[in-house]
Amino acid sequence: MNIANLLLGSAREFRDMPALAHGASRHLGFRELWRRASVMSMHLTTRFRLERGDRVAFAMSNCVQSIEVMYAIWHAGLCAVPMNAKLHAREFAFILENSGARLCFVTPDLADTIAEAAREAPGLREIVDVTTRSYTFMAVGDPAALVDSEPTDPAWLFYTSGTTGRPKGATLTHRNLLAMTLNYYADVDRPSPGGSILHAAPISHGSGLWSFPTLARGAVQVFPESGKYDVPETVELMNRWPDCSIFLAPTMVKRLIEHGSVGDLRPEALRLVSYGGAPMYVSDLKRALDLLGNKLCQLYGQGESPMTITHLSREMHADRQNPRWEQRLASAGRPDSCVTVRVVDEEGRQLPVGEVGEIIVKGDTVMAGYWNDAQATARSLRDGWLWTGDVGAFDEEGLLTLKDRSKDMIISGGSNIYPREIEDVLNLHPGVAECSVVGRPHPEWGEEVVAFVVAREGKTPAPGELDQLCLDNIARFKRPKDYKFVEALPKNNYGKILKTELRKLLD
Ligand code: AMP
Repeated sequence: MNIANLLLGSAREFRDMPALAHGASRHLGFRELWRRASVMSMHLTTRFRLERGDRVAFAMSNCVQSIEVMYAIWHAGLCAVPMNAKLHAREFAFILENSGARLCFVTPDLADTIAEAAREAPGLREIVDVTTRSYTFMAVGDPAALVDSEPTDPAWLFYTSGTTGRPKGATLTHRNLLAMTLNYYADVDRPSPGGSILHAAPISHGSGLWSFPTLARGAVQVFPESGKYDVPETVELMNRWPDCSIFLAPTMVKRLIEHGSVGDLRPEALRLVSYGGAPMYVSDLKRALDLLGNKLCQLYGQGESPMTITHLSREMHADRQNPRWEQRLASAGRPDSCVTVRVVDEEGRQLPVGEVGEIIVKGDTVMAGYWNDAQATARSLRDGWLWTGDVGAFDEEGLLTLKDRSKDMIISGGSNIYPREIEDVLNLHPGVAECSVVGRPHPEWGEEVVAFVVAREGKTPAPGELDQLCLDNIARFKRPKDYKFVEALPKNNYGKILKTELRKLLD
């Protein structure tokens, strides 16, 4: 079982249909991409002397070459280490060292940073810039045969975004990736051949993972020319390529719907916006549904069970008549077909409906472990169950509502307070652009609630108004005791809010 088989299937079925596009232009068809990956794979094993199981990293702004490189790696029975292009040299060095990568592909903007990082990663033999002749030369020669990988062979080391510490490399096997792909068809979407997917979010993360189910269904993988998320360019490309799907983090959805160019989007151009990776507030979600139509599907997953724990389907988003519509929108939906999901207490005992506990997951998408980190693996994988570190509760409909990361929960006067619940309320205020709630140590109560608020330009809300909003919507003891107005919230390279940094601002 080699995940690169998906490309072989598409090369046979979809032949000269476009497989890769750079902006509005076709780059390669499916047969050409298959041939390119097989020839590059020959170079990997001969010229670069890589052996089955070796790790090959890449640090690239989103570009067509990232797909060529990935399929060449798998074709040769090697393991890919996609790195987020926005990392710091020291973070790259950590990943290169931890993964033991032998070779690293780069785009020119990252060449210097990776060269600097490489000094601390002695195992790295070579860096190849995909705009140089060294790379072009990899398309020349005879194709190699597809290596028959084992289902348990590592295929992708997914380095977590590290909101709390050093990143850890979730080891995803060929089986994990295939199970995730099939789950997409079961729970998210089964696109018709000839469609497209636009990679505006980092290819090293969710967007890259969605390349499998879409490529296997004959969708062209479209990379913005800018290599990043630019709303007008995104809208233009969604209109250009047919039946377009896109994966966006919630903050990216928000940017899309708040930008004037969203009015230029032709309704029939868009097939699906899948979003996830962080909470999406109900107020934003409703606006997105109004502006984009019933095209949204939510995913809750993590690198350790990629894109697959629960989903809120397009149908549930669309069912506005349902009396539980709002509760549904506030949830992360129901468990994915390929996994079992439980909410448990600290001893792993299953909790009844409505009770909040840690979310644990079992199934074919759950990682093999953390690369080179037995201790972290033992903490996260117990008896085949992945302990996600997320806290939530099931409701009577079987839908999971996420509360927070367990370590973000605030305990005040012995009561558990989930920041997200308060953030949901504060976001209702028109003067709040963004907010994040954390706990501050308190001598009497243990912790007290503090809200960091980014105000909308010219509309700074008075703390009294925010307080009233909370009193109108949630229990008294949950409302913030202090509001801190800031210019921006600290975020990591995936756009996730760093509560650890916010807590430091409380000292
Ligand atoms: P990562 O492994 O970097 O993708 O981060 C995964 C984490 O993001 C999860 O453990 C959750 O805490 C959070 N997350 C993912 N999807 C969602 C979602 N739909 N709603 C809220 N939080 C999410």
